[in-house]
Amino acid sequence: MNNTTVIVGAGIAGLTLAERLTANGENTHVTIIERNSTPGGLAGTFERNDYLFDIGPHRFHTSDPVVEEYLLNILGDDHIAIKRASSVYMNGKYKYWPLTLGAVISLPFPVLFRSFLDLFRRSKDEGIHNFADFIIAKYGNNLYDFFFSGYTKKFTGMDSDNLHVDWAAAGVNRAVIDKKVKADSLFSLFKSLLLPKPVSTTFYYPSTGGIQTFCDMQIARIKNNGGEVLFNSSAAGIVTSEDTVTGVKLSNGEVIPADKVFWSAPISILYPESGFRFMNTLICNIALSEKQQNTYQWCYFGQEDVIFSRLTVPRNFRKDTVPEGCDSLIAEITAGKDSELWRNPESCRDKLISDLKKVSALNPEDIVFLDWQRIPETYPLYDLEYRNRLSEIELPEGLELLGRCGSFWYNNMDHSIGQALAIAEGKSFEKDFWK
Ligand SMILES: Cc1cc2nc3c(=O)[nH]c(=O)nc-3n(C[C@H](O)[C@H](O)[C@H](O)COP(=O)(O)OP(=O)(O)OC[C@H]3O[C@@H](n4cnc5c(N)ncnc54)[C@H](O)[C@@H]3O)c2cc1C
Repeated sequence: MNNTTVIVGAGIAGLTLAERLTANGENTHVTIIERNSTPGGLAGTFERNDYLFDIGPHRFHTSDPVVEEYLLNILGDDHIAIKRASSVYMNGKYKYWPLTLGAVISLPFPVLFRSFLDLFRRSKDEGIHNFADFIIAKYGNNLYDFFFSGYTKKFTGMDSDNLHVDWAAAGVNRAVIDKKVKADSLFSLFKSLLLPKPVSTTFYYPSTGGIQTFCDMQIARIKNNGGEVLFNSSAAGIVTSEDTVTGVKLSNGEVIPADKVFWSAPISILYPESGFRFMNTLICNIALSEKQQNTYQWCYFGQEDVIFSRLTVPRNFRKDTVPEGCDSLIAEITAGKDSELWRNPESCRDKLISDLKKVSALNPEDIVFLDWQRIPETYPLYDLEYRNRLSEIELPEGLELLGRCGSFWYNNMDHSIGQALAIAEGKSFEKDFWK
């Protein structure tokens, strides 16, 4: 071996790249550095007493045949196809998500009437500078006020007019656009009056374990191909000489020499002065002794008086993610790392349980245990300056940024896989899914 390649981060991006580089028999020794004791990053799974909890809802979906071929190649027969069943909680009721005409029609009459009038006042696409402009142009002022504005403030902690328009294009478009579900604007929603019920979308999920099974399978292949994985090793930065990478520095001071470094850990570690910010999420994993009534896989909650922004029901991904006859829930709560809530999640236990009861998600008497997980850097925050920040960065020779946090990209697993596959093939890759 002539060269040494170091990949920082054993999330899906780092693992896909390592798996491909080692499988291709490149003339390089590949080492992965991972701060956690397990692989997967955001696509990780926690297990306790036969209950499996992913980090919120995680399922594979892609329209890229190359990515699909890769993920089915890794999973082999160990996968199931499941139909999407997602919801939004509006006006005290569960509605189908992406929004359907039925959901809009059942809004309170004044909101419905004003939304209908918005159809005739739709703003033009020019003059769209931020998230608020984008949503108002697509859905009108009333749906913006009624749902999107509150949900966004609660979820990101930022006002909609301080978020870059890419946030909407990446997040909302991806969430609502299914090819046959025309819900990408108020106009297409009303137009769909003439169309039959939306067709459901199918996703892949491992048939054993949680979403992390995919990453465990990648690790097995990487090791088999001669790659090395260093868990519990936190990268603190890179080492350079004459503007060329020579290694990765660990937080214990040790340096791992490298000719080439692929960095999928948060970009803010490399460039702390550049102002890149991420959201952080508190996850509450709740085990229940009895089956509850929840029919969705995941559901969004925009109400200010409800502490969580999304609930996930693992049983509706695969029955055996809980012991027979039992159930579980995953609640996501956005919290700053310097907040009291982040330091002491138990302080909101009573409020969480009472909110879960209020939305009929559980019977408190059925709770077996409640586990808190602090998940840092869950979403890159697209403020109005984020593109300038990215364009100002000058990378040293031999360093490449990768993945959701490394390339500061509000993406999905399939995008991280696609990017890693392209890099492994030496092809250029543009993070352009929002266009
Ligand atoms: C709540 C939630 C739900 C989601 N649902 C879906 C879904 O249904 N479908 C979908 O396709 N995508 C979903 N996603 C997105 C998906 O999780 C990501 O796109 C994907 O997992 C990103 O993989 P990655 O390898 O690029 O990044 P990451 O998973 O962030 O990997 C980065 C790795 O770097 C490690 N690391 C961090 N700092 C250091 C350090 N200093 N030193 C060493 N290692 C370090 C981390 O521990 C991690 O393992 C969801 C994301 C969230 C937060």
